[in-house]
Amino acid sequence: MSHKVKFFKQVEKGIELASQYVDYPRDLIEQVLQNNSIIHLSFPIKRDDGSIEVIEAWRSQHSHHRTPCKGGIRYAEIADEDEVRALAALMSYKCAIVDVPFGGAKGAVKINTKNYSDREIERITRRMTFELHKHNFIGPGIDVPAPDYGSSGREMAWISDTYRTLSNDINGHGCVTGKPVSQGGIRGRTEATGLGVAYGLREFCKNELLMDKLNLKTGIANKVIAVQGFGNVGYHTAKYVSEMRAKVIAVSEYEGIVVNPEGLDIEALLAHRTEHKTMKGFAGGSFSEDRNSVFTMECDILVPAALEAQITIDNWQDVKAKIIGEAANGPVTFDASQKLYEKGVAVIPDTYLNAGGVTVSYFEWVKNLSHIRFGRIENQFNQRGFDNLVNLISDFTNKKMDTCLVEKYSQEGDEVSLVHSGLEDTMIRAFEQVFAIWQKHDFKFDMRTAAFICALEKIALSYKENGIFP
Ligand code: NAD
Repeated sequence: MSHKVKFFKQVEKGIELASQYVDYPRDLIEQVLQNNSIIHLSFPIKRDDGSIEVIEAWRSQHSHHRTPCKGGIRYAEIADEDEVRALAALMSYKCAIVDVPFGGAKGAVKINTKNYSDREIERITRRMTFELHKHNFIGPGIDVPAPDYGSSGREMAWISDTYRTLSNDINGHGCVTGKPVSQGGIRGRTEATGLGVAYGLREFCKNELLMDKLNLKTGIANKVIAVQGFGNVGYHTAKYVSEMRAKVIAVSEYEGIVVNPEGLDIEALLAHRTEHKTMKGFAGGSFSEDRNSVFTMECDILVPAALEAQITIDNWQDVKAKIIGEAANGPVTFDASQKLYEKGVAVIPDTYLNAGGVTVSYFEWVKNLSHIRFGRIENQFNQRGFDNLVNLISDFTNKKMDTCLVEKYSQEGDEVSLVHSGLEDTMIRAFEQVFAIWQKHDFKFDMRTAAFICALEKIALSYKENGIFP
């Protein structure tokens, strides 16, 4: 039986374990575990050669305890209903952990994008949006998709355009997030998940107690990191941890792995792969086709940023890293996690670590509903206040302030700075909350259970406030 059949079960096991540490009625736990609604779509599209093909897609809304529901739409050949249900559930827990007021959802289109032209992908995306609209499964107050594996701003722009053609909703742009900025998107969304992962890793490594347990020095600087997957999340994670002076020594992709013990030049690697469509031939590292050797790399932190179930009960023994940072959703199965904790390996769970994407999606949705760019009203006002303060200090001390210093501390209030700052704040606060639970229960290397408890507490509170459970 393939791992995919069990993905939802793996998530369920995590929640079941966490539920043992909270005192809620069993009915409430059952309600949290269930998927509230799921839709399976089959629709025909015309291929470029004139033939007709039936496409399969799913959308699951795991939890309506808060609305709208929120979660990406992935385009992947291996997608199925179990995966969508599991990913939707993870979204509910993730939103709760980072205090984003949404229920969880997830969608998938079962195609290998490499086998379709851009025009065909557009037809598939627009038809799927039409179907979601017909079934009341999309809308700024109902369910708001976002990019995920195999999809990007381009698909989100098609979804938004189709939805706004079908409805007269004044908030129509808010029906989807991760859009290009010109289409109602927000600056900072593209990099949000990877940047959030980098912030999360930094917070984890900053923590003396955790680093002592792992026998590692505090701080992200000089940490040796290996990354699986060089797509949106993998690339941005590698870029930002490198900027934090960590050393990314290996990056794996479909075609193989590139290794450089001195640290890879991430921008040069991206430029090479963009030009040649492969990492093979990259001058800044040695290439091998054995992509799975990423799991056995000697490193401090392994960052799986591709797909679920990469580290399972079959290969957990091979992991040499001391920390696994789950940038992807569900890359380490529940069963493998338990073994890794016994071995003294910490897993920073997806529900916390990759929540940067949904956090900035929330900012984008708020921007769409308020119809105004962040910083537009207060930017000049704040800058003038800062300039006045600088002038006042200069007048008072009779000394002109160093222009370099003034520039350094000048508040940049443009949209991307505000978004990054909101994201950083979210990742710091959520880490503090999860860490406090971890410490209270002395979970050793298990941060997943602490994160699930954090999610359960917040979802339960929401149900209690709704008057549904006592
Ligand atoms: P993506 O399609 O941009 O990139 C994924 C990359 O992984 C692709 O380049 C693919 O070729 C590569 N890959 C696939 N299988 C591989 C393997 N076995 N070995 C090495 N590389 C492999 O997708 P993404 O948006 O970066 O998403 C990656 C993961 O992060 C998914 O699990 C997704 O659910 C999760 N995630 C994404 C976001 C987001 O904002 N995009 C947010 C939260 C979580």
